Amino acid sequence: MVDKVYVSYNDVHKLCQRSAARLLADFQPQLMIAIGGGGYVPARILRSFLKQPGSPNIPIQAIGLSLYESLGGTQVEAIGTKVTRTQWLDLTALGEMENLVGKRILIVDEVDDTRTTLEYAVKELEKDVEAVRQKLGGDAPKTQFSIFVLHNKDKPKKGTLPDDMMASRFEAAETVGDVWINYPWEATDIDEHDRLARVAKSV
Ligand code: 5GP
Repeated sequence: MVDKVYVSYNDVHKLCQRSAARLLADFQPQLMIAIGGGGYVPARILRSFLKQPGSPNIPIQAIGLSLYESLGGTQVEAIGTKVTRTQWLDLTALGEMENLVGKRILIVDEVDDTRTTLEYAVKELEKDVEAVRQKLGGDAPKTQFSIFVLHNKDKPKKGTLPDDMMASRFEAAETVGDVWINYPWEATDIDEHDRLARVAKSV
C-alpha cells in the first residue's frame, strides 16, 4: 500500500519560504506560471517571499487542465492508426504570449510525480514562446523557464526535463519517496487533516 503523507498549510508556507531564498539567489523570476489547481496556492505564498523592497509583486498567471481533460479525456488518443496527444493543459489562459518573451519565468506546481505534466508544460511553453519570439524578429532574449515544486518524488520518471534545467533551474522544496501526499486544499475536514499531519510529526 502506498504511504500517505499529510501536509498542512503551515508546512506549505514554510516549504515555500525555504525555497524562496534559493530562487531569488539563483533565478530571480519575473513572472510565475502556476499549474492548476495544485500550483495556485504555492505560487501565491511564494510571491510574498519573492517580493523585493522597491519592486512590484511578481505577476502570477494560471494555467489549468483543458476542458477536454476536465471532462475526463485522456492524454493520448488513438485515431485510426495515428496516435495523437491531446493538449491537456490549457495554455490559452495565458493570453498574449508576447508578455512571456525574454522573461525569467518560474513554473509552479505542487508535486513532481511521474514528471509527465512538467515535461508537457515546459515543452509546450518553450515551443509557443519561441514561436512568438521569432515572429517578433528574434531579437529579444530567449525566455528562460525554471521550475518550483513543493515535493519531488524520488522515483523513476516517465517524463524528462532538459539536463541544464535539472542542474540549475529545478527547485523542489522537499524530496520524498513514492508516497501519496494529501495537500490541505484538498481536505474536506481541515481539522482532521491537520490532526493527521501532526500525528505523523509526533511519531
Ligand atoms: P505527474 O505524474 O504528471 O508528475 O503529476 C500529475 C498530477 O498528479 C500532479 O500535478 C498532481 O495534481 C497529481 N499528483 C501526483 N502525485 C500526487 C500526490 O502525491 N498527491 C496529490 N494530491 N496529487 C498528486
